[in-house]
Amino acid sequence: MIMHEMGIAQQLVNIAIDSIPDDIENPKVDKVSLKIGRLASVVEHSLTFCFEIITKDTPLENARLVIESICVTVRCIDCKNEWEVEGPVFKCPFCEDGHVEMLTGREIEITSLELAE
Ligand SMILES: [Zn+2]
Repeated sequence: MIMHEMGIAQQLVNIAIDSIPDDIENPKVDKVSLKIGRLASVVEHSLTFCFEIITKDTPLENARLVIESICVTVRCIDCKNEWEVEGPVFKCPFCEDGHVEMLTGREIEITSLELAE
């Protein structure tokens, strides 16, 4: 559903624009790198599409969006083992306990912004 990605794209654009130093005249962003967890429910091509629409006439217009997909890792609170999962499991395979917490897999964040020269 595209409205979901539109909201995310808007937030990312706001963060990106806020992080451009104020002393740069006519800033132009060349590349935006993102980390997106596999469980963040973001469809990459929809996000890219929304990003292109809302960055028109902003310093981010025509910036390349580079998305790194982050796998889902969880940790068992009881035995402290950490492992990677493919889907929404959440039971520890080591001690068979259900007290697991997610370490990565839901993030949606900007890792870097490159300004054009
Ligand atoms: Zn365990």
